[in-house]
Amino acid sequence: MYAEISSAIASAKAALELAQAAKGLANFNELVSAVSEVNTRLMAAYDVAFASSEKAYALSEEVRALKDEVVKLKDLQAKSEEYELADAGGGVFAYLHKPSMQGSKPRHLACVKSFAEHGVGILQNERTHYRCSLCGAEISPVHQGHMPSVQEVYDMQRSA
Ligand SMILES: [Zn+2]
Repeated sequence: MYAEISSAIASAKAALELAQAAKGLANFNELVSAVSEVNTRLMAAYDVAFASSEKAYALSEEVRALKDEVVKLKDLQAKSEEYELADAGGGVFAYLHKPSMQGSKPRHLACVKSFAEHGVGILQNERTHYRCSLCGAEISPVHQGHMPSVQEVYDMQRSA
């Protein structure tokens, strides 16, 4: 880009010198030709500048998307420290919100599928199965012949 700009500036200087030297119409054709050369070089410099500003915009968009991804991953990592993978019954797995992490949050289970893909999907007890509030996946853990409640899943972990 700088090569095109300095070339256009050099042509402009040459055209200015010609204009200053143009005492009569004898140099007029030379002057017109020099001005035309300046225009051509300015347009080339403009094209290069425009292409590189488009490229800079695309790169800044890419940087922004990557920054968003980093924030999302950090958030997910922080959340993953609050949960542990647990057998909810019969080898059906769910994430259990660690008792040591419980502040204002009640005991709950989270969806394994959502955890890896989009974040914490709380599993809702629908009597015959649990349904993920985020992705809609269903799990049907079994413990002692019935689907365990969230409290029972916590108790199973303590006795394991
Ligand atoms: Zn889910």
